[in-house]
Amino acid sequence: MEESAPKIVLVDGCDCPVCGATEVVDNTLPVREWRINVRAHKVYIDGLSWSECLLCKASDGDGWFAHDDEGNVVVNPSRIPAIEARGETVERVQR
Ligand SMILES: [Zn+2]
Repeated sequence: MEESAPKIVLVDGCDCPVCGATEVVDNTLPVREWRINVRAHKVYIDGLSWSECLLCKASDGDGWFAHDDEGNVVVNPSRIPAIEARGETVERVQR
């Protein structure tokens, strides 16, 4: 059996669209010293790639977010009150 080479796709950083945290705490450090704010593209469910912001998780109890095909931010509806409490405007869209 022939082994296939892994496919590596480089993407832009995955910053949190809710709190603005960068994916890496300080990406000027050597990679071995990186600490992360966002666990990027951790889970793929129902056509969406979900990432988890650890700062939102610590403050709100839920840091999951994804982007849809149009670039809209998708969150669990239970997160909306915490996001609105930060002064953000949330548009509710049925999927
Ligand atoms: Zn966040």
